[in-house]
Amino acid sequence: MEFGFTEEQLMFRETVYKYAKNEIYPLCEEADLKSEFSREVWKKLGSMGLLGLPFPEELGGSGADVVTCCLAGEAMGHAGVDSGHLLALGAHTYLCADTLHKWGNEAQRKKYIPRLASGEWIGAMGLTEPGAGSDAASMQTTATKKGDRWVLNGSKTFITNAPVCDVCVVYATIDRAKKHQGITAFIVERGTKGFSTGKPFHKMGVRASATSEVFLEDCEIPEENLLGEVGMGFMYTHETLSWDRSALLAPFVGGLQFMIEQCGQYATDRVQFDKPIKSFQAIQHKLADIKVILEGSRMAVYRVAFDKDSGKPLNHMHTSIAKAFVGDWGIKAASEGVQIFGGYGYIHDYPIEKYLRDAKLAQIGGGTSEVQRFIISRLMSF
Ligand SMILES: Cc1cc2nc3c(=O)[nH]c(=O)nc-3n(C[C@H](O)[C@H](O)[C@H](O)COP(=O)(O)OP(=O)(O)OC[C@H]3O[C@@H](n4cnc5c(N)ncnc54)[C@H](O)[C@@H]3O)c2cc1C
Repeated sequence: MEFGFTEEQLMFRETVYKYAKNEIYPLCEEADLKSEFSREVWKKLGSMGLLGLPFPEELGGSGADVVTCCLAGEAMGHAGVDSGHLLALGAHTYLCADTLHKWGNEAQRKKYIPRLASGEWIGAMGLTEPGAGSDAASMQTTATKKGDRWVLNGSKTFITNAPVCDVCVVYATIDRAKKHQGITAFIVERGTKGFSTGKPFHKMGVRASATSEVFLEDCEIPEENLLGEVGMGFMYTHETLSWDRSALLAPFVGGLQFMIEQCGQYATDRVQFDKPIKSFQAIQHKLADIKVILEGSRMAVYRVAFDKDSGKPLNHMHTSIAKAFVGDWGIKAASEGVQIFGGYGYIHDYPIEKYLRDAKLAQIGGGTSEVQRFIISRLMSF
């Protein structure tokens, strides 16, 4: 399958790649080692316009299409920017800001999008709860109308950017008995009484992103912070999914390219038995396997992106295939990458062990690989 990227899109990819390689990659190792969200990286992402790509120019964005957003994510992954920073960007731009932009009213868009697109504010999205992950519709967080205010009660967990966010799109149910149809989206700003976030979790990978719980204790928000329509929240999460299966996966595609280049170089330089290890067929096959996974991942992700740009309805088969492919085969590729580096692959001095730790998230976050198979098998007809 040949994708019709425009000259402009490819030039943009190149520009982002060079910027990320020179300005952002050098800061990534420290952020990962310290397990800290880097405000310096955030500023650099904002000043390059990378936090507001899909939004209209009048709201501070660049008016980029979905494919261009994916190319930017791929370019940053290719430059070696770690998945922690890119997850923070993804949660902010695609899970929080885009939901506000798509379902918010004029006043909400004008208030939030320029601040989020510039990076002045950081956004988060809270759907998952301690007792409701894959089965998000079974959420317990409630929203009760009290005069002209909504009162939220409950908690969320694993929320990317929560410890550093200024605004969070929170999903809550107005009536648990209504299941999906009760779920409603709300905008909660940091500083609102009853809204608090936990200490950042100590994570296996994507460590430069800050993740924590969100607590809502009699958290009162004004009527105007209702996002979209009552009972439509679950439908909004479906739109989020199309970003989750395209722009949020694209950095992993770029990461595979980064890894192939690292592995190819190492296999050329490393000599054992008087030969570069790349002369051994076992190593050649590992490099070939990573290349196959890279190309397969690229096709699966851009198929979703081109569909989204063409305005086609979300194809759940395509989105789930993209998520399962990148998640499951990405781990295989990362593991083979470590193997090519031998003992050096296992220690921190080379970027490969970090890549393996980060790659695991693609099998879990935003819908696990098992859930993707559950969806794919339901959609298959024999
Ligand atoms: C680093 C990180 C960042 C995250 N960021 C966010 C965020 O910003 N916002 C947000 O709302 N959430 C976020 N999440 C949450 C993430 O989306 C959930 O972890 C994920 O959806 C899985 O839910 P769970 O962890 O509760 O696992 P569970 O749903 O409890 O699943 C446990 C196991 O059971 C399997 N399983 C469950 N149901 C089925 C089924 N029907 N068929 C087969 N197997 C099944 C799963 O595949 C998994 O292996 C994040 C998670 C992580 C780790």
